[in-house]
Amino acid sequence: MNYTTREYPQEYPLRTTVAEIDLERLRANFRAIVARGNHAPAMPVIKADAYGHGIVPCAEVLVREGAQMLGVAFAAEAEPLRSDRRVPYEVPIAVVTPPFPHGAQEYCRLNLEFCAASMTTMQAFSAEASRTGRNLHAHLTIDTGMHRDGIQPHEALEFMRVASALPNITIHGVCTHFATADEADKHYFHTQVERFRTTVQTLRDAGFAFRFIHAANSGAVADSSTEAAFTLLRPGIALYGYNPSGELTTPLDVKPVMSLKTSIISLRRLSAGEPVSYGRRYTTPRETTIATIPIGYADGLRRNLTGKARVMIGGQYFPIVGTICMDQCMVDIGDADFQVGETVQILGSQKSSGSEQGEIRIDANDWAQQLRTIPYEILTGITARVPRIYVNS
Ligand SMILES: *Cc1c(COP(=O)(O)O)cnc(C)c1O
Repeated sequence: MNYTTREYPQEYPLRTTVAEIDLERLRANFRAIVARGNHAPAMPVIKADAYGHGIVPCAEVLVREGAQMLGVAFAAEAEPLRSDRRVPYEVPIAVVTPPFPHGAQEYCRLNLEFCAASMTTMQAFSAEASRTGRNLHAHLTIDTGMHRDGIQPHEALEFMRVASALPNITIHGVCTHFATADEADKHYFHTQVERFRTTVQTLRDAGFAFRFIHAANSGAVADSSTEAAFTLLRPGIALYGYNPSGELTTPLDVKPVMSLKTSIISLRRLSAGEPVSYGRRYTTPRETTIATIPIGYADGLRRNLTGKARVMIGGQYFPIVGTICMDQCMVDIGDADFQVGETVQILGSQKSSGSEQGEIRIDANDWAQQLRTIPYEILTGITARVPRIYVNS
């Protein structure tokens, strides 16, 4: 499978369902995050194809906005960045998930910075870098309580003593990751900040200096930037216009970058009592018009949204009815007079034409609530089949 979505021209005749990516919003979100983070340098996290927004166009915009470094989760995700001229080769890319020793060759080839969390890996990377005459940069990863990756705080000093002596590797960063930065209760978050601070100080006292000290995900930037920004921000979800949770004290003023739209592909007028879609799970309660739209669960409109999600047409909400199919689903538009080809907004906003004033909107938080998950999973779940169209570049 390809790791990146394809980019399509604005007028794309082969598919009427598109994800529109507003790059001006991405820029504005980045600026809002950096301002909240005391204007510290930033490593925007563009893993998972920039949370479904398309890694190369997003990386290009973020670098132009002043991103110091780019963050991905796996080395393979950096491949499209390194093979595209829109992202200068000099821009450092850090892989925020610790590598296996056998990844050394690829990290050298793609010139990637890595998480230092295992001595076996450090030795393999050092050997490969020496063999090819390169110098790799690394970030010492401390497990301050997330217990996902990194070395334990009490191991840090000994690790640095051994690792810093390895040839052709420079450990110029130290980092950790927060488990609860987006929760209202900041108790455990403070515990992690304190452990990190103490560990970094111990290393400093022993003579190890780091150019990049980083921990702040979106939640930490939003609520606790004065203590958690350190010398590099590491935001993800907020770039794309979502706060990590509804529990933040001071949410970031960011707006969704992705909207999702399609158009009505066919219409049928049905009398009362007619079933709609697989399993006949919906029955028309009265004479009504059913509109079919070409988007389904293979696009990321999850089947579990059946009976829950709605769409916007002509400034009004209408419910998706009947089982969501792989490629299509149906909308009960009542007696509304829409034609085939009418725009249907799945995620995004429309000017209200009904009783609600101003704008009506549906965003990834709405789906996340309906599916009992988080906006991250919604955004990364919009599949590669949906063309990404870039506006305001
Ligand atoms: C995903 C990730 C981030 C970004 O987190 P958000 O909550 O999306 O801001 C930062 N650091 C690491 C190590 C990550 O894995």
